[in-house]
Amino acid sequence: YRRNLVKLRGKAAVSRDGVKIRLLANIELPEDAREAAANGAEGVGLYRTEFLYMNRKTLPSEDEQYEAYARIVSSVQGPITIRTLDLGADKQVDSGRQLGPTPNNPALGLRAIRLCLKEPELFRVQVRALLRASALGRVQIMLPMISNLQEYRQSIGLIDLARAELEREGRKMAAEVPVGAMIEVPAAAIAAPMLARHARFFSIGTNDLIQYTLAIDRVDDEVNYLYDPLHPAVLQLIRHTIESGAQAGIPVAMCGEMAGDVRYTRLLLGLGLTDFSMHPASVLEVKRIIMDSDIGALRRTTARLLASTDLHEMRELIAALDQGDG
Ligand code: PEP
Ligand code: MG
Repeated sequence: YRRNLVKLRGKAAVSRDGVKIRLLANIELPEDAREAAANGAEGVGLYRTEFLYMNRKTLPSEDEQYEAYARIVSSVQGPITIRTLDLGADKQVDSGRQLGPTPNNPALGLRAIRLCLKEPELFRVQVRALLRASALGRVQIMLPMISNLQEYRQSIGLIDLARAELEREGRKMAAEVPVGAMIEVPAAAIAAPMLARHARFFSIGTNDLIQYTLAIDRVDDEVNYLYDPLHPAVLQLIRHTIESGAQAGIPVAMCGEMAGDVRYTRLLLGLGLTDFSMHPASVLEVKRIIMDSDIGALRRTTARLLASTDLHEMRELIAALDQGDG
């Protein structure tokens, strides 16, 4: 089975009815870039940068970050989407100073972009390193946990400042570094039409989007049974995000676990998703399903699923999608 999959490596991910899908990799460590390329990923849709901050007592300097980003950017063909620091809640590190008392609700607290905007120096160092690395490849900057337009604009303001600084210093950078928003807070998904007028791209983070939509702590085993990517509310938010992006003419990717789970590939194709980012090991399996799918038919079945209010009918439609009959 694996050997048959390997044959798909050099093939384009095109559906039976001719829709080209982009398959990208999620990576965490610089070594993962090799695995991504070996599995035929066309680029990186999510490079998590938290590892640089983990298991150490001090924060990584700009040069140290630049070297790590430069290594990845020069080894990846295609676009590479680097996410700015997403610390807090499920992603704790011991470096850095104590950032206030331990909150009661870390997932709702000062995490990710909120932390970076509160600590602009932390953000500035990372952004400078990212902009410098953009001289070496197709870097895109992705902002985690955006919950309103103001946060996006404030981040852009800081990124512009960093660019101006680097220009004054005579550093090389790409002329354009697209900045996009992760859509992983329900408010961002609902307000997607507004965000889409400003952001250059979206990437749906289903791990957090499901957590926040369903009010289920993603790391609490006691409520794990409620964590349901097929919940109608989750599907509506995903569809709304995809459609809002399409209307504004910006690309919409998905980089949460759902994008690499073959149980949901047909459903996501039916929702209109064209850019999937996942663990490198899932790329070929997802590609196999895409090449075997008629997206037009999947879209019709998915539209019926989203319009349905009958649990029995919904189960049947999900089963139909799963078996590949649109
Ligand atoms: C997500 O929330 O779906 C996501 C991709 O980010 P993380 O899992 O790192 O929070
Ligand atoms: Mg997330």
